[in-house]
Amino acid sequence: MYDKNNIFAKIIRGEIPCKKVFEDETCLFFYDIKPKAKIHVLAIPKTQSVDYCDFVSNNDASVVLEFFKKIDLVLEKLKIKNSGYRLVSNSGLNGMQEVPHFHIHILGGERLKF
Ligand code: 5GP
Repeated sequence: MYDKNNIFAKIIRGEIPCKKVFEDETCLFFYDIKPKAKIHVLAIPKTQSVDYCDFVSNNDASVVLEFFKKIDLVLEKLKIKNSGYRLVSNSGLNGMQEVPHFHIHILGGERLKF
């Protein structure tokens, strides 16, 4: 069950500020408040999706494809496409997901140590 008052829902609604990298009507990319790498950006679709499986199972293929293509675009914008990067998506208890709105961590800008 999606919680409409989770932090990322509030960020999408503009109730909590964020440092934006890219936004359009379908998605938002912004810097993580506690970066775990030199570049740490969070990618979120604007659908009410709790995690990866919820997002891919309950949206049209075109919506899913568009989101992943936007990640490609932002990797270019961040200039880390050639140097390398890591995409991570945590889910649930064992995945240690903190915010229950589907998101992908984009990590890069340096040699990742973990
Ligand atoms: P998760 O553990 O759910 O995969 O990751 C949630 C991420 O959201 C964490 O890396 C955390 O630092 C980040 N985060 C939590 N609250 C905020 C916030 O209010 N603003 C921003 N920009 N990032 C947040």
